[in-house]
Amino acid sequence: MSLLLNLPREMPDPIMSPPVLISACLLGVRCRYDGNHSLCKALLDFLPRICPVPVCPEQLGGLETPREAVNIIGGHGPDVLAGKAKCINAAGRDVTAEFLRGAREVLRLALVTGARVFIGKDKSPSCGYETPYCEGPGGRGMGVTINLLEKQGISVMELGPQSPFPVTQFTEILASAYPKDKKE
Ligand code: SF4
Repeated sequence: MSLLLNLPREMPDPIMSPPVLISACLLGVRCRYDGNHSLCKALLDFLPRICPVPVCPEQLGGLETPREAVNIIGGHGPDVLAGKAKCINAAGRDVTAEFLRGAREVLRLALVTGARVFIGKDKSPSCGYETPYCEGPGGRGMGVTINLLEKQGISVMELGPQSPFPVTQFTEILASAYPKDKKE
């Protein structure tokens, strides 16, 4: 109820606004492993300037909600994509295939919608840029989906529910991903 009241009243123009993939949990969708969301209120203020494309790679990969939390074992996102690491949930089940399927489905949505920017939820083994839930360098590493998108030339950044929205960084990313001559 309160979430609905907080939604911006000014709606994006779907023709002129650049499409941006966003981890659905950051928009208040209850798609997290624990059945909750990670709403970032600061992000809501920015929505009128873009055309948001909410995605949850773990759901798109076929995993249920709620579900067991997952760690990347033997590396991080790039290693999963290379077949050298696995995604294992808290019950010991290998969900690597679901993680890969979800990452590919998000990439498919990027191609279909023309989105060239992704805002991923931090600390996620799927969407985080520097997630602790992996065996990456220094104990941190990239999630599977965000890594696949970056490899395909999509500009990526991560955001947490309590983070202030990095307006300057995001404006620069948008300008670079959607040069004016390509929008017209
Ligand atoms: Fe889904 Fe990504 Fe949010 Fe996890 S972080 S719930 S995979 S959108």
